[in-house]
Amino acid sequence: MLFNQYCVYCGDFATSKDHVRARSLSYLSVVVPACHDCNCRILRDYNVSDVRRRRALVLSMLVKRHEAMMKEFPEWTEEELQELSGTLRRHVQVLLNQRAVLEARIEFAKFAQLSPKQQKEAKLCLTSDRPTE
Ligand SMILES: [Zn+2]
Repeated sequence: MLFNQYCVYCGDFATSKDHVRARSLSYLSVVVPACHDCNCRILRDYNVSDVRRRRALVLSMLVKRHEAMMKEFPEWTEEELQELSGTLRRHVQVLLNQRAVLEARIEFAKFAQLSPKQQKEAKLCLTSDRPTE
């Protein structure tokens, strides 16, 4: 992990640096922090030379990928979970934790795809949903 840096594409911890060719001066490159998944798997096969467009590409692919992966993780109610015995219950709990991580990553990717104005409106909705003290 690069100290205190996050992937500019997906928001996960950065573990590598992506060298993006500068649009105006093709012999120069811009170096941005990126996670291994975005840098070496998702963007490897695409010749997109703009950080914004690379980010939009990653976010749309992550939403599709994570939503497909969610189908592998069935939902469990707390009552169903309580009916399971030790080892099986711990196994299902691990799957539920992984499902929660996927849900959070989908939410992040969808939010990051919004325009700044839409993000502001979404934040206002979240704030107004909170109970007042
Ligand atoms: Zn990433």
